[in-house]
Formats: sequence, structure tokens, C-alpha cells
Amino acid sequence: MPPPCDIETCKRKSRALCHCCNKNLCPDHLKEHDDSINSQIHPLVDNINNLDNQLSALNVDEIIDKCRQKLDKWRHDSHKEIDRFYQEKYQELQQRCIERVGQKRKTIHQIKLKTNVLIQEQEATYDDISSLKSIINDIKRDIDQYEENGISVDVYPLIINNNLIYIENWIMNEIDLSTLSSLYRTIDCSNNDWPILTSNNRFLLLKTNTYHEYDHIPMDIVLQYLILYQININ
Ligand SMILES: [Zn+2]
Ligand SMILES: [Zn+2]
Repeated sequence: MPPPCDIETCKRKSRALCHCCNKNLCPDHLKEHDDSINSQIHPLVDNINNLDNQLSALNVDEIIDKCRQKLDKWRHDSHKEIDRFYQEKYQELQQRCIERVGQKRKTIHQIKLKTNVLIQEQEATYDDISSLKSIINDIKRDIDQYEENGISVDVYPLIINNNLIYIENWIMNEIDLSTLSSLYRTIDCSNNDWPILTSNNRFLLLKTNTYHEYDHIPMDIVLQYLILYQININ
């Protein structure tokens, strides 16, 4: 004797056990239960199609342009930083060059004074002449070298670290379709009669208009309208 229908208000005997929710149901409530599940799948199909349309309508160039603004700002700021550093070093260079001339001028001035004293006193010795010659030679060599080469400036190339800019590498977790019912069968859908709702590299979710031939699919399969097919890549 079959158990009573699990719907509280129903007095009839159950006809079937629904495997998806483990309920004993009379024919009317089984149909109602089935219709209720069927009605819930349609909004989901709309949702999936909306997502697909949203993705198709997406303007990737616009997104690239939007994100590129950060790169451009980085470039602009970096150029500004290089210019600032350059100006700082340029001023340092000017200062050092002028200082160098000032130092030489000061030394020459001191020698002039010393020489004038020696002339006025008429007390110059051979050693003074020799010492003066040596100092004058040193200064001349220094000024000649400065005139020809300036002061030494060593530069090193700017090393750009790749980590200065990080671009997100977004790896989407593969959607786990294994929670849906297992593969039912394979079909030939090369004639475009089978609109694809969604797919990944392993499965196709198809909508079929002629569901009668599938009404023996167990209840827990994604109902009559939606059938999940594994893609066979030959
Ligand atoms: Zn059920
Ligand atoms: Zn019932």
C-alpha cells in the first residue's frame, strides 16, 4: 500500500517518490511540484541570456582606455620626476663649475699678492722663482684641463623595475557544472536548431523546443527544456 501524499492538506495516496526532494506525492501534487520547478528554470534562462548579451555589448576598448589612464598618469608623473631630478643635478653642475673657477681665481689672487710683495721687497730667491713656476704650472694644467673637459659627470642608466606597474591577471575559476545533472546523451546540433544558452570548454547548455522525446529524463535532470551536453571535440 503506497504511503499518503506528503502534502499536509492532501488526503490522497502517493503515486511517486520525487527523487529530487525525497517526497511521496499524489499525481496532482507531483504535476504541481514539477510545474513549479519548471517555472523556476525560465527566469534563470533569461538571466543567463542577459549575462551573455551584457558580455557581447561590452565595449572592451572603452575599458582599456579607462584603465590606460593610470598608465598614462604614471608615465606623466615619471617624466616629471625625471625632469625634476635633472633640474636638481643641472643646478648642482652649475654650482660646482662656478665654484671651481672661484677657487682657481682665489689661488691666482694669492700668488699675485705674494709676487707683488717679492717685487716690492726685491727679496726673491731662486727657490721662490722655482716654487712660483711650479705653482703656476699646476694652475695652468688645472685650467687647461677644466677648459677642455669641464668637470667629470658620471651617469648611470635608470633601471625600471617591472614591479612598478602591476596589471591584474584575472583567472576566473571555472564554473563547476558538475553539481548539475550528469551527461544525458550526445546530439548532432550542427543544423542550428539548438540555440545554445551558455557553454564552457566542456559543456553546452541547450534549449530545446521539442521536449517530448526527453520526458523520460529523470526528474533531477535539468528538466525538459534545458539539457546539458558535453562537447565532443573530435
Ligand atoms: Zn521534488
Ligand atoms: Zn497530494
